[in-house]
Amino acid sequence: HVTTKPPPEPSPLRKAKFFQANMRILVTGGAGFIGSHLVDKLMQNEKNEVIVVDNYFTGSKDNLSQWIGHPRFELIRHDVTEPLLIEVDQIYHLACPASPIFYKYNPVKTIKTNVIGTLNMLGLAKRVGARILLTSTSEVYGDPLVHPQDETYWGNVNPIGVRSCYDEGKRVAETLMFDYHRQHGIEIRIARIFNTYGPRMNIDDGRVVSNFIAQAIRDEPLTVQLPGTQTRSFCYVSDMVDGLIRLMEGENTGPINIGNPGEFTMLELAETVKEMINPEVKIITVENTPDDPRQRKPDITKAKELLGWEPKVKLRDGLPLMEDDFRKRIGIPRK
Ligand code: NAD
Ligand code: UDP
Ligand code: UDP
Repeated sequence: HVTTKPPPEPSPLRKAKFFQANMRILVTGGAGFIGSHLVDKLMQNEKNEVIVVDNYFTGSKDNLSQWIGHPRFELIRHDVTEPLLIEVDQIYHLACPASPIFYKYNPVKTIKTNVIGTLNMLGLAKRVGARILLTSTSEVYGDPLVHPQDETYWGNVNPIGVRSCYDEGKRVAETLMFDYHRQHGIEIRIARIFNTYGPRMNIDDGRVVSNFIAQAIRDEPLTVQLPGTQTRSFCYVSDMVDGLIRLMEGENTGPINIGNPGEFTMLELAETVKEMINPEVKIITVENTPDDPRQRKPDITKAKELLGWEPKVKLRDGLPLMEDDFRKRIGIPRK
């Protein structure tokens, strides 16, 4: 028999905080790709103080150089698998490698980050009465048997495959979030993020958009993994950040899909990158990795209805913005 406890009364300290001018926000994984763009947006609001916690596994201080030394900003080198004692009002919990080559590099560490890391952030949220948002993933749907995927779909995930450290790790993280919510009344938000792209992605992180853009700039063949007919839907990072903030500020726990429903095969993506960035470049096919989902496209009805959110940036508008950033970092200007 399960009883749902009502949320605890706000402590006098927390009530007093309500009248404070500043909102203190923790962003775990804030030195990474999505996290650093989220920090940029949060810092634009003068009432926000932002604390980033990151172990720099896949992130970098360079992504935050614009804020280092700012009076409303703090950067802490810390691994979320260790307990963290600080006082905050909101927690955006992003810390976790997102690219398959990084999350498969040390799969046991990936599980620890997802499970122990999320447990620690929930323990922190419980102690200080903070609201916590988890960036979960479309990978919780696995190789989906329904298309497009809405939030009621339970998924088709291999529990013992090479991607499981990430997929199952995030599934347990979602479970922990809901158990802390039901058992301790913690205010939770869960975003299921679909493939996101934009400036500051790791150039060699092996994901498809970053690979194709770097290859096109370097005049190397675009490597389409077989069969090439598998699909993905790509969301530009500024749209993603808007969706995450709306979810945090809104009244719904989620899970809510956040992604762009525009669906492309990997061959179509390669053709588009070739046409826009380097019409001379070759497209080749190469072996795929195990358990690669064949199709993926978010149903964003819930995000539209509950958050009033939908993506604004089309792939053809986002790719050139990412190309500019990659050219600067690779050091090859437009011809
Ligand atoms: P990223 O790798 O750029 O960022 C992750 C950040 O977390 C990095 O700065 C990394 O150093 C940090 N980190 C990793 N393990 C840590 C640990 N144990 N302790 C402290 N810091 C740690 O990835 P991203 O694309 O910005 O993804 C951010 C979040 O969004 C992740 O939770 C990811 O699962 C989720 N997500 C991303 C996508 C996508 O397409 N980018 C899709 C679905 C979900
Ligand atoms: N925790 C943390 N910061 C806090 C409070 C808790 O990192 O401010 C960690 C704590 O070390 C524990 C986890 O969060 O491992 C879960 O905490 P909780 O209080 O929910 O459970 P318990 O400590 O009773 O296991
Ligand atoms: N992919 C590809 N060429 C590459 C890298 C990836 O064709 O150089 C394909 C991969 O097989 C998958 C899709 O692109 O079908 C998306 O892969 P990615 O690793 O970017 O993200 P995922 O959605 O698998 O997490």
